[in-house]
Amino acid sequence: MSIQTINPATGKVVKTFSENTREEIYSSIEKTNSAFLLWRETDFHHRSVLMRNAAMILREKKEYYGEILTLEMGKPVSQAITEVEKCAWVCDYYAENAETILREEFIATDASESYVRFDPIGIVLAVMPWNFPFWQVFRFAAPAVMAGNAALLKHASNVPMSALAIEEIFTNAGFPENLFKTLLVGSSVVSEIIDHPEISAVTLTGSETAGKQIGQRCGTNLKKSVLELGGSDPFIVLQDADIDSAVKTAVTARLINNGQSCIAAKRFIVVEKIFGEFEKKFVDAMKKVKVGDPMNRETELGPIAREDLLNELDEQVKKSVELGAAVLCGGNRINREGYYYEPTILSNLKKGMPAYDDEIFGPVASLIKANDSEDAIHIANDSPFGLGASLWTSNKETAKKLAGKIESGSVFINGMVKSDPRLPFGGIKKSGYGRELSHYGIKEFVNIKTVWIK
Ligand code: NAP
Repeated sequence: MSIQTINPATGKVVKTFSENTREEIYSSIEKTNSAFLLWRETDFHHRSVLMRNAAMILREKKEYYGEILTLEMGKPVSQAITEVEKCAWVCDYYAENAETILREEFIATDASESYVRFDPIGIVLAVMPWNFPFWQVFRFAAPAVMAGNAALLKHASNVPMSALAIEEIFTNAGFPENLFKTLLVGSSVVSEIIDHPEISAVTLTGSETAGKQIGQRCGTNLKKSVLELGGSDPFIVLQDADIDSAVKTAVTARLINNGQSCIAAKRFIVVEKIFGEFEKKFVDAMKKVKVGDPMNRETELGPIAREDLLNELDEQVKKSVELGAAVLCGGNRINREGYYYEPTILSNLKKGMPAYDDEIFGPVASLIKANDSEDAIHIANDSPFGLGASLWTSNKETAKKLAGKIESGSVFINGMVKSDPRLPFGGIKKSGYGRELSHYGIKEFVNIKTVWIK
């Protein structure tokens, strides 16, 4: 894939970038390693001041950066601006808390003194997706850099302007040159970069396919990896749920980011007793969604990020329908310039259909009927993925019990799944391994070192 910004709202090429040569890649790795060797000696106060500068730049220029995100991948600009603000939040969170989280931990043993310290490990390579071009990068980079590491970014090939903008933010915030470096490269050179001895660890946010390849390569090199992969999150609605509130949230949870979020609710599992009411209200609400130019502040649903992804989405819907799925609304591309797809609800779904088994990355909801709460949990777990889950019920005790039975990295009760710098984020099963955010995230890329003194 060439490294190119194509506006998904028009399908027109905005800018094409040349890929870094092998010499440039190797030279960047060396320079980043030199920056790391100095950076690891700095104290938390110094790091925090710079990280807060980054947060300030993000807030001051949120509209400017927000428009870059929208131009490159088509999310509604209001959501893009919120994404930039959230990046400022994660920078501030780690500027504030990294020192406390990584403070030496004293443990009484047979030594006169023994403790654990958390040392940086070197360069972390980040292979990142286009769907949250700023957030995915900052949620990795803020903790990694605060812990004393350096970062090399290989961003998705369709968001080079975002990738370069992030490097510029780190530079303008006062971080040493090359401590955070963007490489403009395609996915075919990732394995070779992982092999480089100066690369200490890898974090990937992306698809299962990329996860398998990167996980394997890290294994061969005995390098640590964190994999944040796909999801097909269940949104479970029980009989005693507040249906209006569940429906309102269901629409947002499915359509946020134009339906292209790993933690978007994708399978709506509703118990039989309230299925009819939920279905009617859900269909009515989806039909009212404002689809349009993502640069318009009123737009709720913009285009799919790339033409190949639109084709894939259309195929998944068509195949599900061929196998017997019913279309309750939408189900087609929108006949206009750009890569638009209708807000869609499918029902009558069964195992073997893409809309039941696979991740659907677009504005398409899978509506599934369950006999009761036990059956709902069974269906929820009948997925290769295990990222997030949303559960709707007015009984908190039932909710807590069921939360323990759901196979996922998080369960949100009476709310949509979201990420928050204070809470760990990640998945199980084919959604990957490792955690980002909170104190768990920052400890993924440190050397947890025991010191024992007689
Ligand atoms: P993707 O195709 O896997 O791409 C992600 C990144 O990996 C890109 O930089 C891509 O580079 C690179 N890549 C792709 N194939 C590779 C390979 N075989 N070896 C090495 N690198 C490779 O995923 P995407 O379409 O951009 O993103 C959507 C996926 O990400 C969805 O499955 C979504 O659920 C998942 N996601 C997960 C999370 C989470 O936190 N769990 C968050 C967001 C998204 P190129 O662009 O150059 O191909």
